[in-house]
Amino acid sequence: MSDNWNTRTKLVHGGSRRSQYNEVSEAIFLTQGFVYDNAEQAEARFVETGPDEFIYARYGNPTVDMFEKRIAALEGAEDAFATASGMAAVNGALTSVLKAGDHVVSARALFGSCLYILENILARYGVEVTFVDGTDLEQWRAAVRPDTKAVFFESMSNPTLEVIDIAAVAEIAHAVGALVIVDNVFSTPVFSRAIEQGADVVVYSATKHIDGQGRVLGGVVLGTKDFIRGTLEPYMKHTGGSLSPFNAWVLLKGLETISLRVNAQADSALKIAEALEGHPALARTIYPGLPGHAQNALVQTQLGGKGGTVLSLDLKGGKEAAFRFLNAMTIPVISNNLGDAKSIATHPATTTHQRLSDELKAELGITPGLVRLSVGLEDAADLIADLTQALEAAQG
Ligand SMILES: *Cc1c(COP(=O)(O)O)cnc(C)c1O
Repeated sequence: MSDNWNTRTKLVHGGSRRSQYNEVSEAIFLTQGFVYDNAEQAEARFVETGPDEFIYARYGNPTVDMFEKRIAALEGAEDAFATASGMAAVNGALTSVLKAGDHVVSARALFGSCLYILENILARYGVEVTFVDGTDLEQWRAAVRPDTKAVFFESMSNPTLEVIDIAAVAEIAHAVGALVIVDNVFSTPVFSRAIEQGADVVVYSATKHIDGQGRVLGGVVLGTKDFIRGTLEPYMKHTGGSLSPFNAWVLLKGLETISLRVNAQADSALKIAEALEGHPALARTIYPGLPGHAQNALVQTQLGGKGGTVLSLDLKGGKEAAFRFLNAMTIPVISNNLGDAKSIATHPATTTHQRLSDELKAELGITPGLVRLSVGLEDAADLIADLTQALEAAQG
């Protein structure tokens, strides 16, 4: 693989390794273990494992290794460790570096399970967490302290799609020596260059756009070789959150098409947002690619002008109107994944964010009328026609 390759070439060929059969499509090495030629070789491998050597699939596996190398090439990261799910990646990135007495600053608008780790689990182990409004740099400045070990945020928040300035938060965090950990799912590895912008560690739920067809769970943590092999790998390989070789193969194949898919999905999302904005049934149309979005200028510099594959629609008439809208759709399915080839509609207040208090929901803008739409690969005109008739049905 050449470092000079552009994104789409890296996505097709990055990390490939061929067996003695010279297969075209990458092989699935569905094995947990590896045979040694003799006892001396086994001993040597446990002392030091070479780049083409494996011991046990919880530590590493050739198919998983191909996935790690390919996503690292895309992200421009020195190294990567693949995990069983996005949450195993988030948990590993945080708990492999933190210890009792440490301080963390985190954005408040988080995926439910991320919030659970930061609010409940870390507290049990004596880690103090300060929550801030991630878009307000003054709050980040006020919250960091000399003992702040890490900062954590989703670069584009779910479901209200606020975009956080990675470079600006990284500068504030680095001034006190804190590690910058970014959950980059909504920004996607295609539109975002989080490491270039100052992130030290980037995590993805590969379940979303990397698979992109709703088949498997997976995740990945990216960073320097030092961090991945020195800090994260010992934690992950001994606590069991490693990715299955079969899932790694599905995700490796997903990477081959991710650029085409997310670009098509983002183009459709923009068309839909433009078509529906100002519809009388809507109180708000939230899409970072719209010029009226509060962080649209940041979308130009941080995401190459792409607003992502998800938009959120706030219906007038609250939950009843939102439910009528969801039930009248004929193309998007009602579910809770995102980044899928199929458009997926979600009512966050009653599903993914149900557990949050009413105060926190209100603070985060998760209103009863809010519907999140992950835009799929269907024809944009079909989606616009379907959503328009569903909005009319929602008005009752
Ligand atoms: C889905 C998601 C996760 C968790 O990923 P899983 O693969 O479901 O474990 C974490 N963060 C964000 C932003 C997500 O969307």
